[in-house]
Amino acid sequence: MKISAENHVYSMSAHNKSAASCQPGETVIFETQDCFSNQIQSEEVLFESTDWETINPATGPLNIEGAEPGDTLKVEIKRIELKNQGVMITSPEMGFLEEFITDSETKIIPIEDNKAVFNDQIKIDLNPMIGVIGTSPGKNEKAVPCGTPASHGGNMDTKVIKEGSTLYLPVKVPGAMLAMGDLHAAMGDGEVVVTGIEIAGEVTVKVDLIKDKDLSDPIVETEAAFYTIASGTDLDAAAKKASNNMFRFLKERLPLSNNEIAMLMSIICDLQVSQVVDPEKTARMRVDKEVLKDYDLKY
Ligand code: CA
Ligand code: CA
Repeated sequence: MKISAENHVYSMSAHNKSAASCQPGETVIFETQDCFSNQIQSEEVLFESTDWETINPATGPLNIEGAEPGDTLKVEIKRIELKNQGVMITSPEMGFLEEFITDSETKIIPIEDNKAVFNDQIKIDLNPMIGVIGTSPGKNEKAVPCGTPASHGGNMDTKVIKEGSTLYLPVKVPGAMLAMGDLHAAMGDGEVVVTGIEIAGEVTVKVDLIKDKDLSDPIVETEAAFYTIASGTDLDAAAKKASNNMFRFLKERLPLSNNEIAMLMSIICDLQVSQVVDPEKTARMRVDKEVLKDYDLKY
């Protein structure tokens, strides 16, 4: 099944109507517009001329039959296909480098031979990733604009949410209501200028349910590691929450005391920055699977 990019939302909300339904275990393709709703196709078009109301469309939402609040939604990211042209913008008063940016600029970045062509000298390896992905907030929670990250996911701009990764999201409403968009061909941790290489494309995911498994904030699993993701009003708050979530994740899975887990985390876990511009900040904590292989760490 494929959900067309025409079916999209600008906020994740318990009031959204589903665009499609599937059974747990099904594979679904989400066709996505870029974060500007594909409005910027040339370098003559500046960010200021675009319609602010149509930033960060997320395709969906997808109703997963049988999903109930208190379950976990498991999203295996099987494939991310990108269009052949990405776009970046800068604008005064945006991002961490605002004092250096006096004029708006749009840069079109062609994708050629699996590289993003910044100029003739700089060709960047692709790291196709999903900037915005989440479930619906609960019925007693406010709608969250797709440009904002929170405990349901949203605009996490976390570069390990990529092809081959598995994302675990909280289910807060019946059907979970999965939506996604804002693909990047590549992005650095922090996303300091407010855009990655923004690009339209298609994401193939397999969705499944883990029943009666409550989750406070998203978790990502890659071949090598688990990451707890958290967002907050500043980086300190996001970092503390990501660390606390990792503590709980390990405590549930390892036969170790609180003190031992805390010590272990201080040695083997890496606190990393996802983004600092959304304007909430997102941090993640990474634990390597290899060093804990005798415990066979699983979600
Ligand atoms: Ca984003
Ligand atoms: Ca983006």
